[in-house]
Amino acid sequence: MRSKRKKNFFYGIMFHHFHDQKKHYKGQGSIDRDRLYSLIKYFGKKNILDPEEFIERYKKDELKKNHLCLTFDDGLKCQFDIAVPVLEDLKLKAFFFPNTINLSSKPDYLELYRAFRHLYYENIESFYDNFFETLQIKNLDLFFKKKSKIIDHWKKKFPFYSYSDIRFRISREYLIDDDKYKKTMFKLFKNKKFDYKKKQNEIYMNTKDLKRLSNLNHNVGLHSHSHPTLMRLEPRNKQINEYSKNKKILEKIISKKINSMAHPCGSYNKFTLKILEKLNIDIGFRSTLMVDMQMKKINNSKLEIAREDHSNILSNI
Ligand SMILES: [Zn+2]
Repeated sequence: MRSKRKKNFFYGIMFHHFHDQKKHYKGQGSIDRDRLYSLIKYFGKKNILDPEEFIERYKKDELKKNHLCLTFDDGLKCQFDIAVPVLEDLKLKAFFFPNTINLSSKPDYLELYRAFRHLYYENIESFYDNFFETLQIKNLDLFFKKKSKIIDHWKKKFPFYSYSDIRFRISREYLIDDDKYKKTMFKLFKNKKFDYKKKQNEIYMNTKDLKRLSNLNHNVGLHSHSHPTLMRLEPRNKQINEYSKNKKILEKIISKKINSMAHPCGSYNKFTLKILEKLNIDIGFRSTLMVDMQMKKINNSKLEIAREDHSNILSNI
């Protein structure tokens, strides 16, 4: 929002999905290249710093209130195909935070689920209906009623989610485990005859793409190996493994030391920050502008830099 921008502090702008006329479908929250051009124009090209400059200025306490950086999460191929040519055209460099599990034969199914929802349903509401139907849970309304306070809190925290988006996410967190979720989704894939293996290769960047990004001097940083949605609840060993594995794989691909990261789903705890400190990470990003948990202020520490989702910027610019 323009009003938020008036608060005048530096932060990152967070991007996820992009669409075009051919390869990448238009989905929830996705934007095209023209929209990216106009957003950059709105921020002011001169206010957007290259990653290394952003980090250096942060270290020296020389970031100004108008300074921003661009960040791209989850290692999506649509970013490589659509956003990177725009950045190169404007001679801008950005942060990219990929999950390395997607380079393996067992990727995170998150994006696959997303593609499925958009390709096989008329709208997201009809997917949610079909999902809950297939799930067959009794007293679903009562469950949502009991969680109404949490639902309202999420709406405040993530204003770009609709109430049905939040209800879906709340049920993922409190009602069904990962296994039940996966089984339900695969049941739906089967019902709709969705060729998910083929789709996987179109969704994520491969090692060649990541190497290319790094060679173009974009900053490739950590986003955990498998993208747990609630890192703060994960046991310490798992957290260590998530970040060290992610770092090891990426450094091997790009042949450079990694110095940046973004918290998957904005989730972390004190221990996560200690791990990242040990891994020599110079800058870490959250996924909101909120000041919560034990934070005293916005941009609380070098590993808690605020980000604004691009969709919270006025749509008529
Ligand atoms: Zn992510």
